[in-house]
Amino acid sequence: MPTDDQLSIIIPSCNEQDNIQKTFQVIYKLLTQNKIPFEIIFVDDGSKDATYQRIQELSLHYRQVKGISFSRNFGKEAAIFAGLESACGSCCLIMDCDLQHPAEVIPDMYRLWKEGYEVVEGVKTSRGKENPVHTLCARGFYHIISSVTNIDMSRASDFKLLDRKAVDALLLMPERAPFFRALSSWVGFRTVSLPFEVQERTAGSSKWSVWSLTKYAIRNITSFSGAPMQLVSLLGWIMFLASVILGIQSLYRYFTGTALEGFTTVILLQLIIGSVLMISLGIIGHYISRIYDEIKARPRYIISKRCG
Ligand code: UDP
Ligand code: MG
Repeated sequence: MPTDDQLSIIIPSCNEQDNIQKTFQVIYKLLTQNKIPFEIIFVDDGSKDATYQRIQELSLHYRQVKGISFSRNFGKEAAIFAGLESACGSCCLIMDCDLQHPAEVIPDMYRLWKEGYEVVEGVKTSRGKENPVHTLCARGFYHIISSVTNIDMSRASDFKLLDRKAVDALLLMPERAPFFRALSSWVGFRTVSLPFEVQERTAGSSKWSVWSLTKYAIRNITSFSGAPMQLVSLLGWIMFLASVILGIQSLYRYFTGTALEGFTTVILLQLIIGSVLMISLGIIGHYISRIYDEIKARPRYIISKRCG
């Protein structure tokens, strides 16, 4: 049962042994000073280091700390949903374990929730320090995802406070591969944005590689939109138009006796058509594999241990 006024803080953690203690201390001090009743749920997403031991140690000393440990790495979204499912608070806040989401903003988010806002979105004033290629790719991804979801995602983050109503709405969604950042806006409710400055990572390194970010982008675009499949039809129509024009020209040349041997043209056409067909099949195949994943209805995550 949700506890009145209690804030549940959900922290997905993957190989964050050096951050657990520090992050907890910062939050504990801040929320105790501000007299905000809270619990902290650390979700250990299949860490290979001592992350879970650190969580366990904290949970032995502080009744506010709960820990969940996955049987393997299931990804940040799964960790967020596991935390939401275990949360008892009337509102839930999601933040990173590396303090890149500044804890000082939490009392302001909580105050806005008390004023009646049901979703308090942390929006980035800047993207923090990262390499220019990463920034460029992120911009491209957010441009596409904003246009398919009709939600401005350019400065969106996972740093959000959600009222119990919004949490329950999210938990009702049976999707196997949820995109938390967009779904939490998609559910609606009375929303307000709160700008925050992305901080430097306190310890450890980011878990994202170019490959994992690319997979993340494709998965989230296709989980929100069928537009890439319409692209297949568009490609088909473009090819059809080109074939009509080329067909008329070829026939004209044939009947006027000026037809060239055209071997290069034939090879080029074969290659272009072949690639367009394969890309199209790939796009359709991707959606079929998504349907396949959903239909199997495997759990989003498997919990191996709990504490607190
Ligand atoms: N994280 C997770 N599972 C993963 C990858 C990351 O739970 O598979 C957590 C990580 O411990 C951190 C948060 O998600 O608390 C953000 O990860 P990271 O700092 O690596 O991402 P970035 O800040 O670079 O976007
Ligand atoms: Mg980080």
